[in-house]
Amino acid sequence: TNQRAFNFNAGPSALPLGVLQTAQEQLVNFNNTGMSIMELSHRSKDFEQVHNEAIARLRTLYAVPDNYEIIFLQGGASLQFSMIPMNFLQQDGQADYILTGVWSEKALAEAKLFGTPVVAASTKDHHYKHIPAIDELNLNDAAAYVHITTNNTIYGTQWKEFPATTAPLIADMSSDILSTPIDINKFGLIYAGAQKNLGPSGVTVVIIRKDLLDKANTHIPTMLKYSTFTENNSLYNTPPTFGIYMLGEVLKWVEAQGGLEKIAAHNEAKAKLIYDAIDESNSFYVGHADKESRSLMNITFRLADEELEKQFLAEAKEAGFVGLNGHRSVGGCRASTYNAVPYATCKALADFMVQFQAKH
Ligand code: PMP
Repeated sequence: TNQRAFNFNAGPSALPLGVLQTAQEQLVNFNNTGMSIMELSHRSKDFEQVHNEAIARLRTLYAVPDNYEIIFLQGGASLQFSMIPMNFLQQDGQADYILTGVWSEKALAEAKLFGTPVVAASTKDHHYKHIPAIDELNLNDAAAYVHITTNNTIYGTQWKEFPATTAPLIADMSSDILSTPIDINKFGLIYAGAQKNLGPSGVTVVIIRKDLLDKANTHIPTMLKYSTFTENNSLYNTPPTFGIYMLGEVLKWVEAQGGLEKIAAHNEAKAKLIYDAIDESNSFYVGHADKESRSLMNITFRLADEELEKQFLAEAKEAGFVGLNGHRSVGGCRASTYNAVPYATCKALADFMVQFQAKH
């Protein structure tokens, strides 16, 4: 039997069952090579095909224009916090950072090691309950770049529209990449760790506009230069081959769902189930995020007190729900409803929330 958990983990998180089953079938003999994908040379034809197809699929799904490169890196989104200023910030240079949560704060802290980042807007005083309005951003047109976090995994907020910036817009999309169609042309660079919507941890996807590469700093370590990866099709050294294979399978799954429009509609319907349970609870459940800023990927809420929250989490666990604890820095509850979390799983949680409320 296939006893799948009701998995609401924030990342690593649920993967499509069909993808896992394909990986299982192919695990010991990939494409009649007599080897696992993990045992193939990264220079072999079989692997190169997997690698290039994954890049091509991502390019097609997001309609990535020709003046952008798609590369695969390691080190997680966290290494991007450092690589971005290392590549694009001069010591006396300025970059704008918009703070919408702990992950943007971490990105800012790394930039301080390389130049002079400026906080162009912050919602920290409001406990990161909302995304600043576009006209509240204090942007400097001469900045090296503007950095945003499109989805705030911990607080459950998400940008709904993006500013048209003069400086290149750089976005951490770790927790909402491929969840909805976006216009890539608005961005200079997009990055995301794979372990939420794209596959297993270990691969970081970067989509970078080519002109940024020409302006990049050169006196930095080879492995931390974007150009090392763009110039070698992400095969300068051994890439995370299994993760790239899994990413490719997840992208096939996204195509089979009907692409990003369909995925977005599905995500909206899923999130609505749980937000409705919150909104119709007479404040038994209280959402953390302001309604206009609510994330469709991470749904954060609290109950009346910590005792009741503990009980909710304990009973939820008993009922087979996984990963509903809020991030350790904020507490409360969080349901992460990434692409691969099924509608039925969200429905089960919404029903559970209603039942729990009725009981208490
Ligand atoms: N940015 C965001 C928005 C995240 O959610 C996370 C991880 N949860 C990170 C960055 C850090 O990612 P990684 O663990 O891949 O370094």
